[in-house]
Amino acid sequence: MTRRAVAPALCLATHRHDPERPRQAAPGLNLCPGCHVGLARHLADLPGLHDDVLDQLPANGTVAGPAVSGSPGQPLPYNPAAGDLLSQLRHDLTWLTRLVAEQRGLTTPPPRPPDQCAWLSRHTDWIAAHPDAGAIKGTLTELVGRAWAVIDPARRPLLIGPCLETIDDQPCDGTLRATVRRDGDPTPSEIYCDTCPLSLDTTQWHRFGKRYLAERARIAG
Ligand SMILES: [Zn+2]
Ligand SMILES: [Zn+2]
Repeated sequence: MTRRAVAPALCLATHRHDPERPRQAAPGLNLCPGCHVGLARHLADLPGLHDDVLDQLPANGTVAGPAVSGSPGQPLPYNPAAGDLLSQLRHDLTWLTRLVAEQRGLTTPPPRPPDQCAWLSRHTDWIAAHPDAGAIKGTLTELVGRAWAVIDPARRPLLIGPCLETIDDQPCDGTLRATVRRDGDPTPSEIYCDTCPLSLDTTQWHRFGKRYLAERARIAG
């Protein structure tokens, strides 16, 4: 065993807001509480995002744009950005499941993103304590961001602004969004943070909105 000097651990992940400010890691982990929750949230969100990206693979005029009649070049019948992202997603999830399985002496799950994410979700704490926790969190954050950029704009959540919650007395680093669901969608509309556990159904939107705007006005001074 190598003996290492014990220093207060800092979160190894990259933070979008105020990136120079060091964040204390949660006890025994290499991620701050916000990034720890964010890691779990990404693994929970990726299977649904994967399905939405899959829906974008044939270019039906949603993202690639409709065919212009009489134009010399026909648009491609598929969406290359969606294809690139699907292969990146599969590559990264396979890499991560293999890393966890090899180091923990386990068998990898079937190579399907929903199975891989469900399996990885059971190892969230272990990943958050791994020396590469920051890079892993960054990889998943990038996949989630790229997925939102590829999927149909009508299905994308509305951007509300920076999250103003605190996690263990530290300001949350996340971004608030609202998903607006239509009739027939299996999940209800929701305001959520991409980092902390904040989640509000529509009955809470009015009161939350007033509180949120007042708080932002107070911060802006
Ligand atoms: Zn962090
Ligand atoms: Zn938050």
